[in-house]
Amino acid sequence: MLIGIDDTDSREGMCTTYLGALLMEELRQYGSIIELPVLVRLNPTIPYKTRGNACVGINIDTSCPDKVIEHVISRVSTMAALDCDMTNPGVVFVQDDEYESVRDTLGIFFQRAVREVISIEEAKSFIEKTGLKSKGFKNGRGLIGALAACGSMLNPGWDHTFEYLAYRQREKWGTPRNVDKESFFRADSTTYPETWDTIDVYNELVVCVPHSPDPVLYGIRGKDPEVVKRTAEKLSTEPLGRSCVYCTNQGTDMHLIPVDSISKIKEMQSYIVSGIVSGDPFTIPGGHTIFSISDKSGASIECAAFEPTKNFRSLVRKLVQGDIVKIYGSFMNKSLNIEKMEIVSLAPLVASHNPECPSCRKRMESAGKGQGYRCRKCGTKSSVLVQVEMKRDIEPGIYEVPPCARRHLAKPLVRFKDPSVKIFPSR
Ligand SMILES: [Zn+2]
Repeated sequence: MLIGIDDTDSREGMCTTYLGALLMEELRQYGSIIELPVLVRLNPTIPYKTRGNACVGINIDTSCPDKVIEHVISRVSTMAALDCDMTNPGVVFVQDDEYESVRDTLGIFFQRAVREVISIEEAKSFIEKTGLKSKGFKNGRGLIGALAACGSMLNPGWDHTFEYLAYRQREKWGTPRNVDKESFFRADSTTYPETWDTIDVYNELVVCVPHSPDPVLYGIRGKDPEVVKRTAEKLSTEPLGRSCVYCTNQGTDMHLIPVDSISKIKEMQSYIVSGIVSGDPFTIPGGHTIFSISDKSGASIECAAFEPTKNFRSLVRKLVQGDIVKIYGSFMNKSLNIEKMEIVSLAPLVASHNPECPSCRKRMESAGKGQGYRCRKCGTKSSVLVQVEMKRDIEPGIYEVPPCARRHLAKPLVRFKDPSVKIFPSR
């Protein structure tokens, strides 16, 4: 039987992945858990999401599904942050004999929940039509992610990574986390690039330890379950309450929709789109760097590297009109929020100089407005400015924002394997 759970967390505490880890232990009394649980990240542009827009899925082989259903619903109702306005939990169960009838439609639902905006009504009507057992709390928004998590388990084969999530002992929740930061740098140096986003080298930060009051102590992301566990074993921290390895769509770019024209871009979705830089980059108060791109369709769009992307902005500021770029990012509030950028080609950057005197080899001076140029020494005149092509101090290739600004779903460049494009990982 498949169990999907979503939207139990709040900004003040609790975390759907923690509930998943706890249920992984508790549900063993009813049968055996099949494979790793899944951690699915949904469309990152949804404004009413609780923290990370994460839902979880568990696959259990059980002879007493009713007891499992009862246990899960009771756990969600006692542990979810139900008094938080933004928290609207949902749980969905898919029993063995229902797999075939919902496999395809739930697979599509999963893909759409990562890329599009799905209404609560659509989720409820799906449940009504299929007769799946479910429980929505309050407005039931969590039913969307609960269905998506089930759809992901019914349709394996999507690109995935793994995360080892370590949770704090209950009495420590809400207090400062006790971790030896140096141990994170040391552990990372032995497993990067098979693990990523543990630390941010350039900004000298440990990025895998959250600051919110939730139960997570840290999360180690990587390419397989063994390497994330091995990294975690090397860390010096306060004692763990529990831990869990999830199979996840984090770090896969599953949210991005490739489009061949800027005119196809819509609010609250994420894209891969190419264009020509049509407005020079500028930085606004607050530190956000903005430029625009356009394409053959005549459409243009504003692209933004926000202040939290730190050193990535200095790269963006080097773009000039005429550069051809491919942007990976989310379109929100009329701006394409850059996650990665491929510089496909650079436009020549031309500077003009006063001409040089052919006999004296000295730079000529202006002879007055509209009068051309004249050598101060010998009086030779010229009317032509010299155009010099400047060296650009960036090169074509693909660049990403630093780990401290990375979206959960964004695929880090260490996972890119295209040999035709030069890759610049953020370290
Ligand atoms: Zn001269």
